[in-house]
Amino acid sequence: MASIAIDGPAGAGKSTIAKLVAKRMGYIYVDTGAMYRAIAHFLVTNNIDIENEEELVKACESISVSIQYENDAQQVYLNGENVTPFLRTEETGNMASKSSAKAPVRAALLDLQRDMAKEYDVVMDGRDIGTNVLPNAEVKIYLTASSKERANRRYKELIAKGESADFDKIEADIIERDERDMNRDIAPLKQAENAVLVDSSDMNIEEVVVAIMSLAEEQIK
Ligand code: C5P
Repeated sequence: MASIAIDGPAGAGKSTIAKLVAKRMGYIYVDTGAMYRAIAHFLVTNNIDIENEEELVKACESISVSIQYENDAQQVYLNGENVTPFLRTEETGNMASKSSAKAPVRAALLDLQRDMAKEYDVVMDGRDIGTNVLPNAEVKIYLTASSKERANRRYKELIAKGESADFDKIEADIIERDERDMNRDIAPLKQAENAVLVDSSDMNIEEVVVAIMSLAEEQIK
């Protein structure tokens, strides 16, 4: 089985790019952020105090996350319920950013992610895939863009959906999330030693996909 790991900060376009690369390669796309969001959804809806270790460990022990694919789209199941529709809210994203720094939360997902890569050819995106989850991935990409550009993309996305958006607040949130992801003790976000840096600030989607596809063609026989 072959793996392509795509890591990088929030809003760098990882999921858009990873989905397209997976489709062209005929691989399965694994969105690990959605798994962290599923746990966060559980923590929010059950009012778990994540600073209370005992409470958090107990909560994590009672959680089972699994992945299924419906019409090519990843669906995340939490204790048997499809929670995919609840995962993209700000509240869930904020909790995911905080709770993903906690050891019991990370431990609850590591084997699931590794097992997926054992069973299938995958394009897996996240923060620690190349450094920690799949250190032997054939292709490792660190996909980033400036915080201004990432905030700008998110701003346009919200406006296009008819939602209100405050550019400065979006950029401040992005910077705060980056700081948390990069400075946590366990599996922090960083470029793996053998990852290829792709800065998409001045690249369009197709250019990024082509760059990754050509690396994949070189590395995966
Ligand atoms: O990528 P996405 O924004 O959906 O991820 C939600 C949160 O999950 C991130 O803010 C990050 O803190 C965390 N995460 C992580 N490790 C991963 C994927 C996501 O810590 N492999």
